[in-house]
Amino acid sequence: LTKRLEGIFQNLEGRGKLTEEDVNSALREVRIALIEADVNLKVARQFVDRVKEKAIGADVMGSLSPAQQVLSIVHDELVEVLGGTGESNKLDTNGNPAIIMLVGLQGSGKTTSAAKLANYLRKQNGSRPLLVAADMYRPAAVNQLKTLGKQIQVPVYSEPMGSDPVDICVHSLDYAREQACNVVILDTAGRLNIDERMMQEVVNIRERVHPREVLLVADAMTGQEAVRVAKDFNDAVSLTGMVLTKMDGDARGGAALSIRTVTSVPVKFMALGEKMDAIQPFYPDRLAQRILGMGDVLTLIDQARDAIDEEEALQSQQKLQQGKFDLEDFLTAMHRLKKMGPLRQIMEMLPGFNKLASTPEMEEALEGDQLKYVEAMILSMTKEERRNPDIINGSRRKRIAMGSGTKVEELNQLLKQFTEMRTMIRQVSSGKGPWGQMMRQY
Ligand code: GDP
Ligand code: MG
Repeated sequence: LTKRLEGIFQNLEGRGKLTEEDVNSALREVRIALIEADVNLKVARQFVDRVKEKAIGADVMGSLSPAQQVLSIVHDELVEVLGGTGESNKLDTNGNPAIIMLVGLQGSGKTTSAAKLANYLRKQNGSRPLLVAADMYRPAAVNQLKTLGKQIQVPVYSEPMGSDPVDICVHSLDYAREQACNVVILDTAGRLNIDERMMQEVVNIRERVHPREVLLVADAMTGQEAVRVAKDFNDAVSLTGMVLTKMDGDARGGAALSIRTVTSVPVKFMALGEKMDAIQPFYPDRLAQRILGMGDVLTLIDQARDAIDEEEALQSQQKLQQGKFDLEDFLTAMHRLKKMGPLRQIMEMLPGFNKLASTPEMEEALEGDQLKYVEAMILSMTKEERRNPDIINGSRRKRIAMGSGTKVEELNQLLKQFTEMRTMIRQVSSGKGPWGQMMRQY
């Protein structure tokens, strides 16, 4: 890809230094992107102002256009603010047992994240975690944790309803030592809104068990609201980090930037779904790209390289570069995607594919036997239809569905997905606007 880019930019003369005009026009787009990503208005303005200072007068590097140069400064600054490459985003698992306390509003994903973290730590570094059910407000909460514990084969410590949550946490430490567990994860109670009793309870637990980590579990979908929640919790219990959940949805995660700016609390994990393996350590550069709406292009390219041999890649790239994309390419892409591994995750990294990937149809199409039907439908088309899907009218649809043993609705669905993908690819490959140009950097 780099080679291709070099080609594109070889003819562009470097413009020397960034002018104020270059910077302003690129930063206008950046500000809009930030706000669309749920970044707090004030934070967005501060951020843009800071970048502006750095950018005006900066050298434009050889092969970059001024807009690209600005965006690369924006990107670097964003990564820096989100934690850079430092250690601040790493989980502290010192202590025997290491104690990790999860706090947050009801429904933010505490219980699920507790289990996911346990699963992650067990698999990642062979830890022996203990899950502690300290939510005494909802009877179902204890059972929920027990069920998840069983599923991931991690023991769960609980006491009968009505017990004191502080006592439960204290007792669980003894139990952990008895069972030779070296990480204890406390799942505490949350309310729908910040309330005093809940805060007092987490404060009490914190004072009694001295957790190494107090992580706020925050729902990325709540956007700006998450910032206020983070501030309140931080004031009351001094957070050491955050788990940003529900990043599998449309949320671009701008809340993390606001929270980091307002409270300095680093994000330590991101949760991307309801399944037990849907959690990952936090990578500032990935979130930076997502906030800017570029998707995780870098990671995607890395993964794609392993799966696609160079020649094939070159061929399809040339086609894509010209904005050509037909149903045959679609089928190849589907096969290739399937080969690349956990599809959902890959699709999620692509800008715009997010919505597409999260439709149940798409998921099924990629993960189940559905690909066979997709294949059958495409194979039932004439060459001309495959090359130029726009000609597939009503009667052709009926014929194709009949020929492939599928329903017209299924075919319609397929064509709709295809069109969405094509639109996306055209935008990306035409490199229109600052975002398209930024993509070309990779
Ligand atoms: P708690 O009240 O804070 O303990 O929240 P729960 O762990 O019970 O989660 C509330 C709901 O959100 C449940 O239905 C979870 O399955 C769901 N959930 C949690 N994390 C995620 C996530 O990362 N993505 C999605 N899509 N759903 C999640
Ligand atoms: Mg819960």
